[in-house]
Amino acid sequence: MHKIDEKLANVTARLRRAATLAGRDPQDVTLIAVSKTQSAARIRDAYQAGQHRFGENYLQEALDKQEALADLAIEWHFIGPIQSNKTRTIAEHFSWVHSVDRLKIATRLSAQRPAHLPPLNICLQVNIDEEASKSGISAADTLELAKAVDGLPNLSLRGLMAIPKMSEDPRQQQDSFSRVTELLRELGTHSLQGPLDTLSMGMSADLEVAIACGATMVRIGTDIFGPRQPSTTAKA
Ligand SMILES: *Cc1c(COP(=O)(O)O)cnc(C)c1O
Repeated sequence: MHKIDEKLANVTARLRRAATLAGRDPQDVTLIAVSKTQSAARIRDAYQAGQHRFGENYLQEALDKQEALADLAIEWHFIGPIQSNKTRTIAEHFSWVHSVDRLKIATRLSAQRPAHLPPLNICLQVNIDEEASKSGISAADTLELAKAVDGLPNLSLRGLMAIPKMSEDPRQQQDSFSRVTELLRELGTHSLQGPLDTLSMGMSADLEVAIACGATMVRIGTDIFGPRQPSTTAKA
């Protein structure tokens, strides 16, 4: 408990400092605690320390934890790869999906979003450095997908998510993050319904650079929970 408490306070302080240094309001940067492979008990500890938004990558693992934590008012974010046969469950159990990278998935999420829930918040995942190992659309395809997703009734197109290429060189990361920011700005000129107010970028190692470049949501795992737990439930 104590440990997660302190780590969370640390990350929050880093976030605030980075925002202030960039001349931004720290309130404009939302912290998502990425809890993949971490137990429900540790999520509960983080919740009690004041963190109410959590990101999960693996659906079955997330559902187990959601059930164990049903008494808490957690806002759940799905941030992992999506198989089309899982869209219904995702549409039913999450408030946000950060990893949409094809229209088929978005169409299904919209059709399967339960009527009693508000629109599902969507970020399009952009493979900003065109890495073969990463999912996401290319920057060049983003506008076309954004226009199509924007027209779907039960989704709210909030913005873009990206994971830049790993680099020791902060300038290179800055370049990648800035291209995502520019891409969102460019989408904003196309009179989409949006609201296109979200840049989901920045993880434990690069949250400062991401915030300097305009991130509005950072997704932090390791620096809150410590190293990922070896887990037999960590499956899609
Ligand atoms: C695991 C993960 C994170 C968190 O990464 P850390 O380096 O542990 O902070 C963020 N975003 C996505 C999409 C992830 O899969």
